[in-house]
Parts: sequence; structure tokens; C-alpha cells
Amino acid sequence: MPDRDSGYRKVIAIVNQKGGVGKTTTAINLGAALAEVGHRVAIIDLDPQGNASTGLGLESNDRELTTYDLILEGRSLAAVLHKTNIDGLFIVPATADLSSADIEMYKSKNRSFLLRDALRSSDVDELNLDFILIDCPPSLSLLTVNAMVSAHSVLVPLQSEFFALEGLSQLMLTVREVRQSANPDLRIEGVVLTMFDGRNRLAQQVLVDARETLGELVFKTIIPRNVRVSEAPSHALPVLQYDTGSKGSLAYRDLALELTSRTKATAA
Ligand code: ADP
Ligand code: MG
Repeated sequence: MPDRDSGYRKVIAIVNQKGGVGKTTTAINLGAALAEVGHRVAIIDLDPQGNASTGLGLESNDRELTTYDLILEGRSLAAVLHKTNIDGLFIVPATADLSSADIEMYKSKNRSFLLRDALRSSDVDELNLDFILIDCPPSLSLLTVNAMVSAHSVLVPLQSEFFALEGLSQLMLTVREVRQSANPDLRIEGVVLTMFDGRNRLAQQVLVDARETLGELVFKTIIPRNVRVSEAPSHALPVLQYDTGSKGSLAYRDLALELTSRTKATAA
């Protein structure tokens, strides 16, 4: 169970076992939006593809200590945290070696708790982090389970396309299993619709279906499909910096606001 008295306020796992639904984009831009209003935010890149690391400008050569070292080599969070070009936004980068982490992790009796324990290391408080966002790989693998065990909540990006809701029951089942076995307080932070094209009737239908099935769990904020969002990573920037007035930027600022006001509401 995450330690609520530790230095960081909230650990959020960004999860969807489908690839290409906007997990990494949401980690980077929600992180940037939270940092922009003064929070200290760390993104943990838990995907061996390392897209969050690349998207925030960390060249492979700059990734000396990585998520692998945090989980499997006993390195502290402070040691593996890298600065980004954005004030208050940090990243624990990933490299391809994380793809062998699963096998290594299975050897440990503590296999589901490795990330959680790493995040509880003694120097964590000094980092004064408000949020840790964990960018998960596109699977419900042991890495993702580690993220769920470490987190206060799970945030699910849902791409506004046909079949979007199909994988959700499997995801929710995993959440329930993690609650039962390791992290009883794990909450669903919410489901956020991504790459939404309001002119597309199918997308509209996905929104209706999601609200019908999931009710309040669906964020009011919807992330539109916006070409600036997809261009930003090749400039190694969050869209908030690449094109600060773009629709994508505005949406991610709204999402940060909705998230923090919900957080306050539940804390009250
Ligand atoms: P995941 O991490 O779930 O695999 P990504 O965040 O990498 O998904 O997004 C998949 C692709 O879609 C990327 O090329 C990304 O730039 C693009 N993308 C994500 N969100 C948007 C958006 N709102 N508008 C346009 N393109 C987007
Ligand atoms: Mg990704």
C-alpha cells in the first residue's frame, strides 16, 4: 500500500494494455501541465520503448541510470531522476534493457513490489515531488502490475475509436486483482478520451458508450486529435511548450486542472 505520509502526494499509473492510445502523450503533457502550475512532477518511463524519455529530449546517451536501475539494481529515485527542459518536471528514463526486466523480476519473491519499495527509499521525501506519473508499457505485464501496486490510482487513456472499450474489462479485472493481493486502496483516477475528433460519429458514439458504462469515471476533459500534439515529440518537447496555445495544450491544461480539483475534493 502506498505510504500516504511520504513526500509525494500522488502516484498515478497511466495504463492501457493497448498501444497507441495516448498513454505516453498523456504522461508527458499532463506532467508538463502540472509542472507549469508549480507542481514538482516525476515521470517514470516504464516502457522499454522509452518514448516518454525521447519525447522529453533525453537522448539514449543521456540515460545513464534508468528505470531498470531503480527497480532491479537498488538505485534510489534521486539517483535515477533526470531533469528535463521544463522547470519542475523530471523523468526516470527507460532503455531497451527494460524489456528483459520481466524475466529478472520473476526471479524475485517480491516481484510485484519492486517498484513500490524503490519509491519508498529513504531519500524520496527530500525530492518533494507532488506527483509521480508512471508511463506503462502496452500490456498488463509484471511491469504494469508493479505500477499498479505502487500507485494511489490508475488513469486510463481511451482512444476514441471502435473497440476502445473492449479491453477495459480485462484492465479492471487486473485492478481488482491488485487490490485483493497487494494494494487495497488502489483507485481508478478516471478514463480520459484521447485523439477525439468531434466530427467523427464513431468517436461521438465511443464518448456516449464510455459515459454510459463508466459514468463519473470519465473525465469531463476530452483530448482532441491535434496535429501539434503528434509533432511535439519529434521536437523533444511537450506540446505545451512546442505550441502553447494549441488545442492539445489547452486540453492537457484542463485535464491537469480537473485532476487536481478532483484530488482536492477527495482529500476534503
Ligand atoms: P501509447 O503511449 O498509448 O502507445 P502514444 O501517446 O505514444 O500512445 O500515442 C500514439 C500516437 O498518437 C503517437 O504518435 C502520438 O503522437 C499520437 N497522439 C497521441 N495523442 C494525440 C492527439 N491528441 N492528437 C494527435 N495525435 C496524438
Ligand atoms: Mg507509450
